[in-house]
Amino acid sequence: MISGGESTHKLAIIVLEGLKRAGLPASPRNYELWYAHLDGRHPSLTRDIEIAADAFGKVTQDNADALYRAHLQRADLTSNVVDVITRMNAEVADLSELVEKTGEHATGNNKTLGGLSEQLRQSTEDYPAVGALLEGVVKVAKDMHAQNEHLESRLAESADEITTLQRSVEDIEAEAMKDPLTGVANRARFDRAIYQYIAEAKALDNPLSLLLADIDHFKGFNDQWGHQTGDQVLRLVAEVMTRNVRGTDTLARYGGEEFAILLPGADLNNAIRLAERIRGAVECRRLKKRKTDQDLGAITMSIGVAEMHDADSAGSLIERADECLYAAKGGGRNQVVDEQSLGAPAANSGAA
Ligand code: GH3
Ligand code: MG
Ligand code: MG
Repeated sequence: MISGGESTHKLAIIVLEGLKRAGLPASPRNYELWYAHLDGRHPSLTRDIEIAADAFGKVTQDNADALYRAHLQRADLTSNVVDVITRMNAEVADLSELVEKTGEHATGNNKTLGGLSEQLRQSTEDYPAVGALLEGVVKVAKDMHAQNEHLESRLAESADEITTLQRSVEDIEAEAMKDPLTGVANRARFDRAIYQYIAEAKALDNPLSLLLADIDHFKGFNDQWGHQTGDQVLRLVAEVMTRNVRGTDTLARYGGEEFAILLPGADLNNAIRLAERIRGAVECRRLKKRKTDQDLGAITMSIGVAEMHDADSAGSLIERADECLYAAKGGGRNQVVDEQSLGAPAANSGAA
């Protein structure tokens, strides 16, 4: 078990070594699994890993996946884990910088020593007695040089290891910000993004818009066709939306069957156009049950659109988009309502 006093990068190295011994690749999931196993806070996971190792001789990737699902998979990682990852990342960055500096220093020393021993050798050719004496000095210098080279290669190795580690930490972070069902950003990622985008938009005096989109009558759809088919629809809707946004936009699963899109650089009219495009694209999809080819009809979405005002906070911007979404539902669903048309008679954009 890992003791609490050890520094986080040491723990990370222990975790990586543990994975290597178990014959598992250091993927973000395996990494998280092994971390949870070794930090001792999941005794039931540790017990199951021991049982799997006893029964099969080793922990196969299939076992690891099953253990991950059983013990760790959650809709969102707890902020605890995110905290640890953030701290570890900072520490790894510190260490990496330190190693780089030491590396530079050692290289400098080597050059000096190499040059010095060469100078000594040349300058003593004419003076054998002094030369004999200085040969000793040269030998010491050479030894030091060799030692330094050894140290340098050790440092280079650790630097490589740290880079690998840093990459897996980045992968874990990315994974922690993803919605496992649809692959789009999760709520935690959205909550971070909205603060960041608002600050940027205000600093650069750029527009920023927000779409909140909710699937219509989804409860009824689930009741009729089953939750698994409902899950497939969520994936499909996320796919349609992904195809319609740009790389700088953030599409997130905001709640059960609700999605949010942050559009930096887009004013209200741009955002309304995108919302209409998405609404139309979702409505056009004819759904079929894969196994039976049964027609499931169409799915529709209601969308609220708001643009950031100077005085907006994340909360007030979300609230306005949510009021528009609520109005779109009240207006008959399958429609887009923006903050300007809110209050005015709803422009019914689709068949309700
Ligand atoms: P409205 O048009 O007013 O939005 O009606 P609705 O039925 O979509 O809204 P309601 O909030 O009553 O129900 C949301 C439903 O979404 C409830 C639940 O069955 C479904 N849902 C939420 N998350 C998931 C999920 O992850 N998978 C599936 N299959 N369904 C989900
Ligand atoms: Mg709904
Ligand atoms: Mg809803």
